[in-house]
Amino acid sequence: MNPAFDRYARQLLLPQIGPQGQERLRTASVALVGCGALGTVIADGLTRAGIGFLRVIDRDVVELHNLQRQVLFDEADVAENLPKAIAAARHLACINSQVQIEPVVADLSPRNAERLLSGVDLVLDGTDNFETRYLVNDVCVKHGIPWVYGAVVGTYGMTTTFVPGRTPCFRCLLTRMPPPGSTPTCDTVGVLGAAVNVVASLEVVQALKWLTGQMDPAPPLMFVDVWEHQWELIPLQRSDGRCPACDERRFEFLTAQRGHRVVALCGENAFQITPSGDGMLSLEQLARRLQPVGEVLQNEYLVRFRTEPYELTVFADGRTLVKGAWDEAEARTVYARYIGA
Ligand SMILES: [Zn+2]
Repeated sequence: MNPAFDRYARQLLLPQIGPQGQERLRTASVALVGCGALGTVIADGLTRAGIGFLRVIDRDVVELHNLQRQVLFDEADVAENLPKAIAAARHLACINSQVQIEPVVADLSPRNAERLLSGVDLVLDGTDNFETRYLVNDVCVKHGIPWVYGAVVGTYGMTTTFVPGRTPCFRCLLTRMPPPGSTPTCDTVGVLGAAVNVVASLEVVQALKWLTGQMDPAPPLMFVDVWEHQWELIPLQRSDGRCPACDERRFEFLTAQRGHRVVALCGENAFQITPSGDGMLSLEQLARRLQPVGEVLQNEYLVRFRTEPYELTVFADGRTLVKGAWDEAEARTVYARYIGA
């Protein structure tokens, strides 16, 4: 047997893959946005399966609390303060040296999104926030690239594949971004590593199906709660009205007409984030959610939240001051963690 194929012997036996499927994987290129809990499982799965090229995009550094679920990282990565993209690339290269890995230490933004995502066969979602997903969706609809969506919090998660021109897009389903603070995040309610692994594995399966030309004609939204034995397949349904992205070809997140605005403020590593979400947030609800993870002060105008080394001041319209972040990317990360959306 061809030694290059020897490592894939068990996968080649599958009628769904076979030598033809394996060859298609070998020439496939994929971009992964976010290499945290979902992303590390996805990157591991695709690298072991033998895809040709994997671009790993992530803005964060490996931290101790990541090791509970982010399967590619270890204590040495934490000790070295390695960016996740770099640490992931190192580990992936040891797993399968035949795969070309390109680590990109960056915050996916309107400035770099088209350069980083266009030209690949598939984009996979390993992110933790709505804003980045809307941006990914804009680029993918504009350039006709399919993308696999995935999200997990607590013990449940969901995933599906969006194929431009064939399925509704992410924005067809959720025309408006949820108001800030209205959705739970892993940093406020926690997350079970096993739930992440299940959803990430489903993302890998969808990627393998697409890359070998076997995607279902109408992929459903798969919802799973691993703790409650809940498993549902939900047909993708457009919300009412026209979709700015696929009906009108208006890419508001890519042209930065929408999306959070971040500006650096004078003083101690402080940034102001102005969300694009519509509507006001409930300060009481937000304060309740943040209570278990830090020190919370609330009055009728704002919530102040401290968790070392950060201090967040959130106003009712969602505008947030982040103190203690070194750069814009870190400020966005902190915002996505604790305020969400
Ligand atoms: Zn759409």
